[in-house]
Amino acid sequence: MFSQFKYVKAQTIDEVLTYLGDRDRCVKILAGGTDLMVLMQRNLETPDCLIDIKGIEEMKRLDFVQGVGLFVGASVTVNQVTESKIILEKYQALGQAAKTLASYQLRNRATLVGNVCNASPGADLAGPLLIFEANVHIASLDGRRVLPLAQFFTGPKKTVLAANELVTGISLPDLSSGDQSLYLKQARVKGHDLGIVGVAMRLTLDQKFLVALSAVAPTPIRLLELEEFLNAHPRTPELATKAGEMVQKLIHPISDVRASAEYRLLIAGVLVKRAVTLLTTREAN
Ligand SMILES: Cc1cc2nc3c(=O)[nH]c(=O)nc-3n(C[C@H](O)[C@H](O)[C@H](O)COP(=O)(O)OP(=O)(O)OC[C@H]3O[C@@H](n4cnc5c(N)ncnc54)[C@H](O)[C@@H]3O)c2cc1C
Repeated sequence: MFSQFKYVKAQTIDEVLTYLGDRDRCVKILAGGTDLMVLMQRNLETPDCLIDIKGIEEMKRLDFVQGVGLFVGASVTVNQVTESKIILEKYQALGQAAKTLASYQLRNRATLVGNVCNASPGADLAGPLLIFEANVHIASLDGRRVLPLAQFFTGPKKTVLAANELVTGISLPDLSSGDQSLYLKQARVKGHDLGIVGVAMRLTLDQKFLVALSAVAPTPIRLLELEEFLNAHPRTPELATKAGEMVQKLIHPISDVRASAEYRLLIAGVLVKRAVTLLTTREAN
């Protein structure tokens, strides 16, 4: 059963910030509610005020400016991400990951920013956003700041956000045409579960690999050592196999309800090998 709370449908960002600035209240942001409502139903979150941000016009922004990049506002749903032509064309890994997130009905409510703010180690959209070197746009009554996503997560379900801060959106830089990326995910039940392992990989036009994994560490992570290895070695057929072996030495996943640590290690190796093979073969064709 839900505990009692006040519900506010905000019309402006300033209205949200005023509520968040009230230190006498436990205020929570409600975006799609697909994470928050589950926790509230179990009384693991008991806010006394919920601020719904879905009606704020400024937060519905999903736009791309050539030479600048993409901006995804905090009210943009995951289904909007899967339907965005520019995301599917340019930011392929993000579009692919969005399609694997839950079911169509869930994606109609769930937001990209909510997925990031919830900070699950297995968040599907975090890996792709990390390889695109995304920035998080944060606002409070004290002002605005922009932070690289790589500095946003601090632990399972934990971020650098202060209680009075709101994420207004996430931006991604423009990419050269020829930039290739993909997202591979292994999950127990398609459409109903977080991944056992998620691998986001990108090969830039100037032949630089970027790699991020989810569900293998306390937060989604970039694997800089693996990137260095891939970037320092020629594209031989053995490269993918070696990368698959190397990732198993770099990560230290836990066992949980979804999978054992051993299975996660095995799957991470398989998915990394597959991702390198797919990106380098695609490039050769
Ligand atoms: C059945 C089911 C299946 C799921 N499957 C997947 C899956 O396959 N992959 C996956 O990654 N996730 C999955 N999820 C989790 C969830 O759907 C996603 O994480 C979703 O993107 C969360 O977005 P939301 O808008 O619903 O967030 P909400 O639940 O509204 O918010 C999540 C948290 O972030 C905070 N928050 C939200 N927006 C802001 C903001 N703008 N500024 C500051 N804080 C904010 C909220 O206060 C809350 O603490 C699943 C959930 C369910 C119930």
